[in-house]
Amino acid sequence: MFDKILIANRGEIALRVVRAAREMGIKSVAVHSTADTDAMHVRMADESVCIGPPSGAQSYLSIPAIIAACEITGAQAIHPGYGFLSENAKFVQIIEDHGLTFIGPTAEHIRTMGDKITAKETMIALGVPCVPGSPGGVPDLESALKIGEEFGYPVIIKATAGGGGKGMKVANSAAEMEVAFRTARAEGKSNFGNDEVYIEKYLMTPRHIEIQVFGDGKGRAVHLGERDCSLQRRHQKVFEEAPGPSISPEERAKIGKLCADAVARINYIGAGTIEFLYENGEFYFIEMNTRLQVEHPVTEAIFGVDLVREQIRVAEGLPMSFTQDDLVINGHAIEVRINAEKLPDFAPCPGRITQYHAPGGLGVRMDSALYDGYSIPPYYDSLIGKLIVHGRDRPEALARLQRALGELIVDGVDTTVPLFHALLAEEDIHSGGYNIHWLEKWLEANF
Ligand code: ADP
Repeated sequence: MFDKILIANRGEIALRVVRAAREMGIKSVAVHSTADTDAMHVRMADESVCIGPPSGAQSYLSIPAIIAACEITGAQAIHPGYGFLSENAKFVQIIEDHGLTFIGPTAEHIRTMGDKITAKETMIALGVPCVPGSPGGVPDLESALKIGEEFGYPVIIKATAGGGGKGMKVANSAAEMEVAFRTARAEGKSNFGNDEVYIEKYLMTPRHIEIQVFGDGKGRAVHLGERDCSLQRRHQKVFEEAPGPSISPEERAKIGKLCADAVARINYIGAGTIEFLYENGEFYFIEMNTRLQVEHPVTEAIFGVDLVREQIRVAEGLPMSFTQDDLVINGHAIEVRINAEKLPDFAPCPGRITQYHAPGGLGVRMDSALYDGYSIPPYYDSLIGKLIVHGRDRPEALARLQRALGELIVDGVDTTVPLFHALLAEEDIHSGGYNIHWLEKWLEANF
């Protein structure tokens, strides 16, 4: 059993892990850059170590600094949160070489799923349906044009190493292919050091449905249903809910079992998310994330489980604390991502918080590292909080979201809160009648 773990992250997710560890009687070590000396995760952890200057590359992404912090503090395991080093196979390898434990999947699982072409090949072999497209990498423009003709436009060109919406470009016609192809390759190279790309049919009305899976690394795995994350801006999620308003219990059971069986067969360990586009009753795999997702709390709310606790348990070699039969959906949950951004352009808006008040009451959870007087540094992601609400059904969850947003006070910086107030006035949000393109169109018309 671990008595001390280190959290290689910052912000609300670092705090999230500190909380789970404390409830389990495990001490936590925060690491931080010089820009985060006063951060909440540093204050809340049992110990903290400064690992470098503000730039992420020299601090939260510095593997030697993080390993050194483990050695100094005697932490036995590392939780990576999401982003930063959470899907870095080399990091996992180095952790293991130092006799430490990574709280997450193996380096091999991360490597396989981190390369989207290999991930698709693996999923096809495991019987999971994928978006139609090129059978593998597309080496040059000529081949790209052939694929475009074969599948019909529009198509989407994707960097195999891409993530966070980067390295993806849509071509609506053969004439647009050259620029889209070159841009996707260039973004892959500059953001991820890999210019290999592949091509998929660009779906016009899909929803983004992702299945939460969890494995014990010993051939047992369960699914925790789906999350609908269709409300996106620039391929980035802003509003997530579970269960998905368009998914029937039969569909859930079928796709969930397919996913759980697939990860069981590869002895997957810990939390993972298998992402699909869902159109006309069909699921099409797009990618797998081998980590905890930002939106994991909606799943926790409807199943009443603590996914971080579970991650720590299986990393310790303990069995999962639930079976598939124990996992029964209770009600409906919604998460909104609150970013320090100025509308209508969503420009990052770092600065000092002059007043912060978190909403509360029945069915309300606020995961945030904000406090009165805190200065949001300009160096990192603009996510400053996640408001999660849980109700007996979707209408109750929506009413609770409206009520909780009304209580939230974040003064001193601009935030995306007004976006959610405006969205809650939309009939399509209440009927659940939206797809992945809905928000972009609505923003164009309304902001
Ligand atoms: P990333 O790893 O950058 O998050 P994903 O492959 O998960 O990229 O895709 C992110 C989002 O981009 C999806 O949720 C969806 O909105 C859009 N997208 C991806 N592939 C397609 C496709 N074939 N057709 C339409 N939209 C797509």
